[in-house]
Amino acid sequence: MYKNFSYGEITPKGWLARQLRIQADGLAGNLDKMWPDVRDSAWIGGDKEGWERVPYWLDGFVPLAFLLRDEEMIARAKRYLNAIMDGQKPDGWICPCPDEKRGDYDVWALFLICKVLAEYGVYAGDERALECAARALQNLRERMLAGTTKLRQWGKFRWFEALIPLGIIKDRFGGEWEDGLAALLKEQGADYADYTGEWKTPVFHWRIFTHIVNLSMMLKTEAEYGRFSGEKYADEAQRLYDILYKYNGSAVGLINGDECLAGVSPVAGTELCAVVELMYSCERLFALTGDAKWADLLERVAFNALPAATTEDMWAHQYDQQANQIGCVHLPGKSPWMTNGSESNMFGLEPEFGCCTANFGQGWPKLAHNVFLRSEKGIVAALPLACALKTEINGVPVGVEIAGDYPFGGRMTYTVSAKRPVGFELAIRVPAGAKAKLCGKPVRGSFIKLEREWNGKTELTLELSFAPRLSPRPKKMYFAEYGPLVLCLPIKAEWKTCEFVRDGVERKLPYADYELAPGSDWAFGFASDELKMSFGKVGETPFSESAPPVMAEAWLAPVEWGFLRGYTTVADRWPKHRKALGKAKKFTLIPYGCTMLRMTELPKIIKNEK
Ligand SMILES: [Zn+2]
Repeated sequence: MYKNFSYGEITPKGWLARQLRIQADGLAGNLDKMWPDVRDSAWIGGDKEGWERVPYWLDGFVPLAFLLRDEEMIARAKRYLNAIMDGQKPDGWICPCPDEKRGDYDVWALFLICKVLAEYGVYAGDERALECAARALQNLRERMLAGTTKLRQWGKFRWFEALIPLGIIKDRFGGEWEDGLAALLKEQGADYADYTGEWKTPVFHWRIFTHIVNLSMMLKTEAEYGRFSGEKYADEAQRLYDILYKYNGSAVGLINGDECLAGVSPVAGTELCAVVELMYSCERLFALTGDAKWADLLERVAFNALPAATTEDMWAHQYDQQANQIGCVHLPGKSPWMTNGSESNMFGLEPEFGCCTANFGQGWPKLAHNVFLRSEKGIVAALPLACALKTEINGVPVGVEIAGDYPFGGRMTYTVSAKRPVGFELAIRVPAGAKAKLCGKPVRGSFIKLEREWNGKTELTLELSFAPRLSPRPKKMYFAEYGPLVLCLPIKAEWKTCEFVRDGVERKLPYADYELAPGSDWAFGFASDELKMSFGKVGETPFSESAPPVMAEAWLAPVEWGFLRGYTTVADRWPKHRKALGKAKKFTLIPYGCTMLRMTELPKIIKNEK
């Protein structure tokens, strides 16, 4: 349906550019300098992890480096990419493992490095990377046909991820083997539709088919596979998401899993890998189907769940985040999460496990890369985010520049420029639920399609506004929202910095771990449906707790609420009562993504509840 532009055609602007710079200066921008599993990885000839971690890191670092036009970062990315390509064996095998161990190597990491190489090849213009990915996938096909590689474990449950590089290779080289490999992968890969019965009741067991990252990734399967099979798209993604969401959904659009499906409670967690993988699934689904609802879900996850899981400087992240998160400490004793351990909602270098450390960096760069897409008729402005596109249509240099602070502000300008007269369609996506005006005139629908001859500069103004509201959650709970932004009560945090060494991996500033204990009251209910919005400036740190760009005034009253299984830093799943224990007072709610500790889901106060 739609294709991505190259990195060189896209220039992030405004708060989005600042966020990318913060990431570049933080953990994801520096892992190759200080984290053994990337710095000394077997992928580049070292003796540390030689599976998913370097491919994960490159998956975010490469687009980040190119979108920022940061030559030093590009050189560092190329050092890794070139070392990996140099290590490719004559038969096409590319993963760092001894030849005799190839049959045991879980090829999930192969899918991932092929995706990294193919995307880098096509969006950064490196032909060698495309050829390497093609040869590695041809080698996979030969091994699968010979039975020397069989899909198992992660490879079996993430088989569809190989379809992404395979689709790029098919588009570029147009061979016939790609369809055959896609069919082989499908045949040996897991079909998640077989497991929907297991998604309805969370169980305290680790299962690969209720694993939250797998489930966030697999939504794109039908859309990706259709590129090879030609089968008509039936929106299996929506059917599966609906089941997952009904039994495990969160206020910010996530599927809860810590780390397997965890139910609908506001203290159930979601792993950060699942946040960025759900975003990527939404980006792919929007590009492949053109259905605006995936861009709406993408915004909801990107503007809330992604920034909430990192510190403002992006040097520390969480493994699991919760909607009602009153503390993030190393819990004494057994964890109350499903199967994750007692430090999994702390902020740090690699709380719980290092997958998210390597993987979370894909979130912001890929969001920026997907602001504009190419359609058959011209250009789709998929996300109303500050960003500039410079490309060519029918040989004519054209550009679109979006300016403004959405989702923190509603007035966006789209400046279209064309060197000479050229006809094309600019489709501007309008977020769901927005009251929209284009150049002062009300517009309806998910897309404003402007098919015309463009010449010189044309400035269009898009005004977006939303009605703030309290929306329902299970168990008669409510949360505040304004368009894609979820607003919540920030809880003051008492910070403790933890510097230590474990298993040879050092935590020290700026990449220390942090414990956050609750330092203000959190047990409240909504005493009124009224939310009074105010809008401020978006600062150097867009998602700032001390200077949030959007606020809502709400009336809250204290209620009786307990702790989960006696942990004084974990709120109970739901309040004991909905009766006010005291007078309602005015509080300021701020964007979920600006908070470290927060209460998102609250009951409405009921008078005289027994
Ligand atoms: Zn992870």
